[in-house]
Amino acid sequence: MSCIFCQIVAGKIPSEILYQDEEVLAFSDIHPIASTHLLIIPKRHIPSLTHLSEEDLPLMGHMVNIANQLARREGIAESGYRLVINCGKQGGQLVPHLHMHLIGGRRLTDELG
Ligand code: AMP
Ligand code: ZN
Repeated sequence: MSCIFCQIVAGKIPSEILYQDEEVLAFSDIHPIASTHLLIIPKRHIPSLTHLSEEDLPLMGHMVNIANQLARREGIAESGYRLVINCGKQGGQLVPHLHMHLIGGRRLTDELG
């Protein structure tokens, strides 16, 4: 099992887990770029956004819902936040296991890249 996020799911690499259920895990990003920087991932290995199938759409909706709940829990629901999914090399995806960044707690730049 070479995927770093699958190893986090399996508990083989430590992480600061903030939420989990049967399908989804959320944990703190190891190199946060803001006071809130979490990752929300499917427990099942899906390499990237481009590998999603129609059957995965409820899972994606579930992940967005969890992100919103975590934003409320982190106290940034009112001030605002950003959900980011990098996809592929030119999209800036470094870890090849689908993940959603939840970033907030400061005024983020207007640029998206
Ligand atoms: P991306 O560039 O979208 O693939 O983002 C990958 C993210 O995973 C980066 O923000 C990293 O800081 C984060 N990351 C990498 N390894 C770990 C880890 N072991 N625990 C938590 N976050 C990690
Ligand atoms: Zn994986």
